Amino acid sequence: MKVNQAEFVISAVGPNQYPDDALPEIALAGRSNVGKSSLINRMINRKNLARTSSTPGKTQHLNYYRINEDLYFVDFPGYGYAKVSKTQRQAWGGMIEKYLLERETLKLILLIIDLRHPPSKDDELMYDWLKHHDLPVCVVATKADKIPKSRWQKHMKIIRDALVLRAGDQLMLFSSEAGIGRDELWEQINSFIED
Ligand code: GDP
Repeated sequence: MKVNQAEFVISAVGPNQYPDDALPEIALAGRSNVGKSSLINRMINRKNLARTSSTPGKTQHLNYYRINEDLYFVDFPGYGYAKVSKTQRQAWGGMIEKYLLERETLKLILLIIDLRHPPSKDDELMYDWLKHHDLPVCVVATKADKIPKSRWQKHMKIIRDALVLRAGDQLMLFSSEAGIGRDELWEQINSFIED
């Protein structure tokens, strides 16, 4: 995909704020600080359209980014951050669950994982929940630049095994820092929005 235009659209707190132009949507889920904003910025080759922050859990809404007139990236709040209240967590969970189950324009969920570490319990729960509901997932293992290439496959296998990656779901290597995997991830996204 050649990105000519990328624009932040809205930080939505509920369905009435979601865009209504029916463009396909690619959602991004993952733990706080895993590198979701950086991944979006790398995909569109912009330094900081998506806000990267060192304060985990700061993103509390569904952040919509429009890419050309082709699709939206929908950035979810990062999960697994202890300091948010239980009520807040439940509210986010409810909103996200509803979005995932009811949003007709949703084409693919990118589950972002840190290549260096085995998936967390929250990652496993998220993946199992998505699969339970038959949602299409692509697992993206990011921060690949942080470990030597010779260990990539070993780490990929740990992630694949821990998640019990289902047939048909891709596991892709990525680095926002080094640009690794960008073209492959665009190819993957395109294959989900074209049908
Ligand atoms: P988010 O909370 O998931 O949006 O995470 P951010 O995109 O803000 O990234 C969290 C931290 O990880 C920041 O300090 C980023 O610079 C760093 N980071 C993100 N992706 C990469 C990557 O691919 N390689 C390296 N080395 N650092 C990364």
